[in-house]
Formats: sequence, structure tokens, C-alpha cells
Amino acid sequence: AKPLPILTARNVTRSFGGIKAVDVEHVEFQKGAITALIGPNGAGKTTFFNLLTGFDKADSGEWTFDRSVSLTNKSAAYVARKGVVRTFQLTKALSRLTVLDNMLLAATGQTGERFLPSLIKPLWRGQEKANTERALEILSRFKLDAKAADFAGSLSGGQRKLLEMARALMTDPQVIMLDEPMAGVNPALVQSLLGHIQALRDEGMTVVFVEHDMHAVRHISEWVVVMAEGRVVAEGPPENIMENQAVVDAYLGAR
Ligand code: ATP
Repeated sequence: AKPLPILTARNVTRSFGGIKAVDVEHVEFQKGAITALIGPNGAGKTTFFNLLTGFDKADSGEWTFDRSVSLTNKSAAYVARKGVVRTFQLTKALSRLTVLDNMLLAATGQTGERFLPSLIKPLWRGQEKANTERALEILSRFKLDAKAADFAGSLSGGQRKLLEMARALMTDPQVIMLDEPMAGVNPALVQSLLGHIQALRDEGMTVVFVEHDMHAVRHISEWVVVMAEGRVVAEGPPENIMENQAVVDAYLGAR
């Protein structure tokens, strides 16, 4: 049986000063699958992630969770409550917080690029105990529980990527959108990161990830969506996409 779409987007556009960064006619992400979103720099992948997860507003279009819940231009907090979250890179501000603080902050949905460290205490006050327990449980699956009191900035490249994933799990998502989960990671750790991503899928989560590492894409994704200049230009199983010479020449050649 064909799996069900858990996230469907139609006619989604977003322009920045006359340039259409995103112009997606139709895309569906299948429930319980790992989908890779690939394409050259500036293709609109990150902007599309931001729109779907409430961190940016579209100029037009609509997107729906589980075929009936509209997420169109809803707040990031609302989208997270419905079960859709994206990861964020560990910014400078977040590096100065401990690993545990990063997790507690994530429970409030405030790990976006624009978060202010001064807001942190008031945001989680009151829920500290339950959230701390949950945070330590999630950290332990990534073998980061012993690092809970360390500054996030002291983590290795691979551990940072695990923390980014761990933070996203704080709101118990059904769909997790990973922005370049392998970027800057020691090649020796890539396999372990891929294992963690597959484990999320095996637990029933839907995973969508942006990635430039084609080995990783081929290895774990069930479906690949190719974007260029804001549009979806091809999609299909990884073996078809990687062997599609037009796609390789036009969109992947540069990497
Ligand atoms: P990369 O692989 O390099 O991360 P991407 O596919 O994620 O690229 P986006 O970062 O979404 O691409 O960028 C798409 C286009 O939108 C680019 O032309 C970029 O310069 C532009 N853009 C993105 N965000 C903004 C912004 N906040 N203000 C102005 N232009 C933006």
C-alpha cells in the first residue's frame, strides 16, 4: 500500500526583493519515510523548511499536516504543537548555554536563530523538573547525558549535530526536519549519525532532511526531492535521481 502523506504543500511561494526563493507547486512527504531535499546553494531548501515550520511567512500557498490540519503561516509554536519541528544549527548564543539549557529552551520552541539568551530562565520556569528528566532521557540516547552541564560550545562537531537532533525531540515531534545534519562532521561519525536518523524513522517518525552529502542521501533516504531556483525540478527514489543525468549535470555537478 502507498504510504500516506503526512505533510502536503501546494503553490507555496516566498520572495525576497523580487527573487522567488521558493516556488513549490506541489510536494508531499510520506508518513514514516526518510525524504531528502537536495539542490544547489540558494535553491530555497532552507527557506522552504522555515516556511513549513513557522519560522518564516509565505507570500502565497498552503500546507497541511495529516491531510486536514492547516499549518499555513501558523506560528512556529503552533506548528511544533501539531508535531512538526525543524533543527537549527548551534548558534553562538546557544553555544554559551549548557547542553541541558539548550534542551530546556527547546521545550519552549525558542531555539530559532533570533532567540535571546536573556529570555531563557523565564521561559522554562515552572516546568523545570519534568523537562529536565525528559531532556536527560533524550540526551542519553545520543550519549550526551554526561555532557549535560558542559557548555554546548565545547562539543565536537558530531556531538553538536546530535544535540541539534536531541533539542528537536523535546517537543515529541511526528515530523522532524533536519537542516544539513551531516555538515562539518568528521567522516568517521557520519555512519553513526545516519544510524540515529534511521532510528527515528524506525520509531515511526517522518524525517525530512536537507543534505549536500550524496552518499548519505543515497544511503538512508527512501525518496529524494530536488529543488533548484525555488522549484521542485525532480523527485523519486534515490537510485533513479542519482542516475538521472539531467539532474546530476544541472543540479548536483557543482558539489
Ligand atoms: P544552501 O544549500 O546554500 O543552504 P538553500 O537551498 O537552503 O541554500 P536558501 O537559503 O533557502 O537556499 O536561499 C534561497 C534564496 O533566498 C537565495 O537566493 C537567498 O539569497 C535568498 N534568501 C534566503 N533568506 C533570505 C533573507 N532572509 N533575505 C533575503 N534573501 C534571502
